[in-house]
Amino acid sequence: MAMTLSLLAYLVSSVCCIMALRGLSGPNTAKGGLMFGIAGMALAVVTTLMLPGVSSYGTIILGVAVGGGIGALIAKKIEMTALPQLVAAFHSLVGLAAVFIAAAAFHNPEAYNIGTRGEIHIGSLIEMALGVAIGAITFTGSIIAFGKLQGIVTGKPVVFKGQHMLNAALGCVLLLLLVLLCVTESPLVFWAIVFLSFLLGVLMIIPIGGADMPVIVSMLNSYSGWAAAGIGFTLQNNLLIIVGALVGASGAILSYIMCKGMNRSFFNVILGGFGGEAGGAAAASTASDKPVKIGSAEDAAFIMKNASSVIIVPGYGMAVAQAQHALREMADQLKKEGVKVRYAIHPVAGRMPGHMNVLLAEANVPYEDVLELEEINRDFSQTDVAFVIGANDITNPAAKKDPASPIYGMPILDVESAGTVLFVKRSLGSGYAGIDNELFFYDNTMMLLGDAKAMCEGIIRAMEH
Ligand code: NDP
Repeated sequence: MAMTLSLLAYLVSSVCCIMALRGLSGPNTAKGGLMFGIAGMALAVVTTLMLPGVSSYGTIILGVAVGGGIGALIAKKIEMTALPQLVAAFHSLVGLAAVFIAAAAFHNPEAYNIGTRGEIHIGSLIEMALGVAIGAITFTGSIIAFGKLQGIVTGKPVVFKGQHMLNAALGCVLLLLLVLLCVTESPLVFWAIVFLSFLLGVLMIIPIGGADMPVIVSMLNSYSGWAAAGIGFTLQNNLLIIVGALVGASGAILSYIMCKGMNRSFFNVILGGFGGEAGGAAAASTASDKPVKIGSAEDAAFIMKNASSVIIVPGYGMAVAQAQHALREMADQLKKEGVKVRYAIHPVAGRMPGHMNVLLAEANVPYEDVLELEEINRDFSQTDVAFVIGANDITNPAAKKDPASPIYGMPILDVESAGTVLFVKRSLGSGYAGIDNELFFYDNTMMLLGDAKAMCEGIIRAMEH
């Protein structure tokens, strides 16, 4: 009876998780989606704690208190701009958990009902082997991604001769070891798989750099889901299998969508070595000799007040400056003056998928004003002003013109087609991909040098007077 009830509760919890994903697919339904997610997880935790086999409540409560306490502290302290590396760090823990559970099940199979030591059921062995390998790759891969995003490890691709061959050879050895484990059940082979997978995780992520990091963050998200699903099979826990598969599949789909958004082949990104070293400073050499038009908040206020349409292009700098509220006030002011104001969102603007959408929603920008690249890109040519705030790479024409550029091929927002381009940033420096932007020197560009929030506030003051 208890078992049937728990299965039913797990089913309800799985449905809640599916509804959560469905809700999170659009800004209007995202809040409802989160509520479903919270309800689903709460039900899952309570049901698991009430299972007949669960007895060590003291240890569980201690674990929840320590883990939950650390999580709450991090959530309170973390800057919005550091979220991508936090996500990568948390993925690493999912991977590590998968390794620990697989090790526990391997060394004490009786406790998991999967056979006896030396005679684990073959199905369970296969699931365990896959779970531990994917978990270990996720662990070290996510740590390297965290290091790159945090600036502890170089963000440039680390490449060396024969790298792809080495990775392919190690991949083959890993496959052999997986088969060997299923045949021999040797603890030595089990730990060899763990260490080889740790190494592969590092080797797979170090060659990826520059603009390709977003895809990797979402790919590691997918890996962590598959690792959890693999462990779900070992533990014979349907909920873990379903939720793991949901995370795995949605992460994979997101990676695919991002690859499409950046015009990258998924396999090229995975194979690594893109997006950093080649042509990094191609446009830089002559940058300092060219004339640049530099304007003030008053100039910007005058130009935008007299425009009939303005498209705002937010980027990472808006997040750094936390300028979204001031930006919305500025847009409201312009709307009062009869100017048509819309926002253009690039798929990889900021440092995580949906970064700009989250910030604009936080500032209560109406969803209907916020348009994706493909919806709005053609409108720049009929727009008076493109107001680029804290964005750089996502507007860089090198992506269209310079085959040597690390971002070549990535679709960009065609801001240069607008009548005037106003560029808010603190200097003429480069963005995440480390390349200069020739757009700063175009005739129709005016640089508004300064902090994004302070500049918006200055423009609001100027418009009021
Ligand atoms: P960029 O990193 O290209 O440019 C941001 C610009 O903001 C910088 O050039 C900087 O210039 C400016 N800036 C920083 N702080 C401030 C401030 N306080 N006020 C005003 N400006 C500021 O960002 P984009 O959004 O244009 O492009 C995103 C990049 O990040 C892409 O290369 C993408 O591939 C990558 N990426 C995206 C991820 C995602 O999932 N979205 C994840 C990881 C990487 P200055 O210093 O002169 O002020």
